Amino acid sequence: MPIRRLPDTLANQIAAGEVIERPASVVKELLENSLDAGATSVRISTENAGLTGLEVLDNGKGIPQAELKLALERHATSKIETTEDLFRLNTFGFRGEALPSIASVARLTLTSRPETQPEAWQVTPEGHLKPAALPPGTRVQVADLFYATPARRKFLKSARAERSALHAVVTNAALAYPHATFTLVEDGVETWHLPAAQGDFLNALTPRLATLLGGEFAAHAQPIGAANAEGWSLGGFISPPTAHAATAREQYFFVNGRPVKDRTLQTALKQAYADRLPAGRHPMALLFLNIPAEEVDVNVHPAKSEVRFRNRDHTFGFLYAAVRQALGAPKQSFAGGQGAHTAPFAHLSSGQPMPLPNYQLPMATLPQQLRRGDEPSATRFEIPAANGHIKAPMPEGDAIGFLGAAIGQVANTFILAETADGNLTIIDQHAAHERIVYEQLKTAQAAGAIPRQPLLLPTLVTLKPTEVDTLLANAADLDKLGLELEGYSPTAVTVTAMPAALGNANPLPLVNDVARQLSDFSPRTVLHEKLDHLLSTFACHHSIRAARRLSLAEMNALLRQMEANPATLTCNHGRPTTATFAKSQLEKMFDRS
Ligand code: ADP
Ligand code: MG
Repeated sequence: MPIRRLPDTLANQIAAGEVIERPASVVKELLENSLDAGATSVRISTENAGLTGLEVLDNGKGIPQAELKLALERHATSKIETTEDLFRLNTFGFRGEALPSIASVARLTLTSRPETQPEAWQVTPEGHLKPAALPPGTRVQVADLFYATPARRKFLKSARAERSALHAVVTNAALAYPHATFTLVEDGVETWHLPAAQGDFLNALTPRLATLLGGEFAAHAQPIGAANAEGWSLGGFISPPTAHAATAREQYFFVNGRPVKDRTLQTALKQAYADRLPAGRHPMALLFLNIPAEEVDVNVHPAKSEVRFRNRDHTFGFLYAAVRQALGAPKQSFAGGQGAHTAPFAHLSSGQPMPLPNYQLPMATLPQQLRRGDEPSATRFEIPAANGHIKAPMPEGDAIGFLGAAIGQVANTFILAETADGNLTIIDQHAAHERIVYEQLKTAQAAGAIPRQPLLLPTLVTLKPTEVDTLLANAADLDKLGLELEGYSPTAVTVTAMPAALGNANPLPLVNDVARQLSDFSPRTVLHEKLDHLLSTFACHHSIRAARRLSLAEMNALLRQMEANPATLTCNHGRPTTATFAKSQLEKMFDRS
């Protein structure tokens, strides 16, 4: 083939290949345009998760009639003029490629009206310009996505997957712009309506946290703020070490208002919590990093979801130190990089003192139901939830098994016990207890039914819309496991009963973890295949989640429970729950043997 210049349509389709992957990416580009145009209200409507059609309507500054057709041309933009502009961007867009790319793979109708223009004008999918009716602002309608590139269509996922990608895009925009109203209408049903809020950024953001990130996130979100003399600032919310998530997915980073996925930021956050969380758990965080425009290059990824920092170590150090300080950790410089951040943190411009989250460990109580009918009553585990008084008497000598008699507790976490032969046993009370509850749930389930405990007051749990759908789709199966819930709204469920073995566990984090776990399963997975997984999640929510002081009677009761079921000698995650030091080992330590 001779060399020839590609026709515009083909060039646009190639550009579309980089940015227009799915309905959610169309919405992302359109939302960015609306926000760049200064919109304070944006309405997103989709049909069949955008697969059939979608539209974005805003009240931004609009496009004059004379420029309307140009907006649909490649490399036509109103956002930059010179090369220098590229390095001091304060808009999402600058490539001038989104509208022509979308128009090359779908049927796009662009209608717009600047405030000063008496009527609106419209460009049809065929490229005709004609008058139209619209209040000041812009409306972009997109239909038949990928009709022009059927190969691309094949890569689209289920409506469920597309829908959750779409929610993620709207979530990001609504998090970065709390002063704007966002409305999401799906198949004619209003899923989200987030009214614009007033006041400083974090205050304005607070009312929409639960809707966008779920009730669990909102319940634990602690504000964080830091700034330095070089114009860097960090604001947002983080979870205290007592609240954590099963995955790192509850972490949102924004750099100068753009949502980004960035290893440097993720690692800095992880390191900051390193010694504060149980193994395998992750902090929840929503962090907005604002830094001088020349410190970051956003033109490294067509969809602009990645950025390049001029000084990675500096960025790492800034975030690490800010989170560390918010966690109340003693100041320490991170040894990892040359640029450990040393500039003093000034307080945020609001003049508020840096909020230092206050960590109260929840007083976990052991479940009243944790007892086995076939055991001597002396080893019953009977801890009333209300006042924590112990009813279980000290076990009789003959009831003591191979783990020994409890002699005390270390760090409110480990139980020490002495066996009849003078060996020392150390038990991880958290892991052991979790395992006991798990075994109990499994036994009950195998026997036909997991006993449930109705909640005195149904608990409302706010979730992401797709999580609500997933929970309700599995409601009948969850019901069999003792977890009873009902739909309340597109973004909330009410919990009416919980498995009794979980005692007075908080339904909020449990339902969140279950929802997330179910969302992770493939749509074809049937619940009973994942039952153990799910029950283990249940158990996790009632164990003594953090350090807790136990009485000797409680310790002994726990040990007797463990002896009765040897499976409890390893925790749900396969780690040991006990360690033993033989008397001979102890003697050796002191050169006695
Ligand atoms: P870019 O955003 O990179 O400039 P686009 O193809 O997304 O490129 O948009 C082209 C131009 O059309 C923009 O520069 C802007 O001037 C105009 N435009 C697009 N969408 C809107 C909107 N919702 N409101 C006002 N102007 C818009
Ligand atoms: Mg754009």
